[in-house]
Amino acid sequence: MADHPKSVFVLTGAGISAESGLGTFRDAGGIWATFDPMTLATPEAFARDPETVQAFYNARRQNLVAAEPNPAHRALARLEAGLAARGGSLTLVTQNIDDLHERAGHREVLHMHGELLKARCASCEAVVEARADLSTADSCGTCGRTGGMRPHVVWFGEIPFHLDAIEERLMAADLFVAIGTSGAVYPAAGLVGAARQAGIATREINLEPSDNAYLFDEADYGRASEAVPRWVEAMLGG
Ligand code: NAD
Repeated sequence: MADHPKSVFVLTGAGISAESGLGTFRDAGGIWATFDPMTLATPEAFARDPETVQAFYNARRQNLVAAEPNPAHRALARLEAGLAARGGSLTLVTQNIDDLHERAGHREVLHMHGELLKARCASCEAVVEARADLSTADSCGTCGRTGGMRPHVVWFGEIPFHLDAIEERLMAADLFVAIGTSGAVYPAAGLVGAARQAGIATREINLEPSDNAYLFDEADYGRASEAVPRWVEAMLGG
């Protein structure tokens, strides 16, 4: 790893929010072990059975509103401020649709898979805040159409957000760190390979080795609430 990385790129996944009580997707007992993604998280599912899709996301939204950031989210917010204070920068890209990084004080977060607390009109693409339950009776405040207000999240088969900015920020980094992600969902899982090809140092922090663990120069396996603050203190103290 570079001794004093100035430009750090962090990718987070469901594992960083697990200790806040939000389930991960792929672990035993995870969300997709209980629910079938093809009936819930695709545009086709929303077209076929919007009530069931809305009910699933309404329940997740209620869980999120009741959850709190944990020490890992707060440590990354300290790192963002600490790097900025010494003339560096932190790019935070998350696959998570929760807002726990923001609530921990993080200033800039790129949500590549969207945000659960926003809704989008499937007709005109207008995006609005959505903290309460969504319903098929909701109408769009912009175009007036009813029935198309969907969670502002990226479903299977849809293209993630911010891909150009993500590539640009990654290529400007001197350290890439993946936290709490299984390395199973692309294109996010491909970022470590792109970083390596560009000669950028890579580090993984996860409960267990991810699917692409062999691509990381360094790894720290443990709970995010302990491993992330430990790494951040080392970064800011060094
Ligand atoms: P994933 O469920 O595939 O993998 C989670 C990873 O986190 C696993 O490798 C697991 O070992 C690790 N992990 C579990 N508990 C941990 C802990 N306490 N500390 C550190 N690591 C821990 O999730 P993913 O890689 O993010 O990708 C799957 C998709 O899940 C993404 O598209 C994302 O949008 C979605 N998702 C988001 C949320 C959320 O917003 N909080 C929750 C579930 C799933």
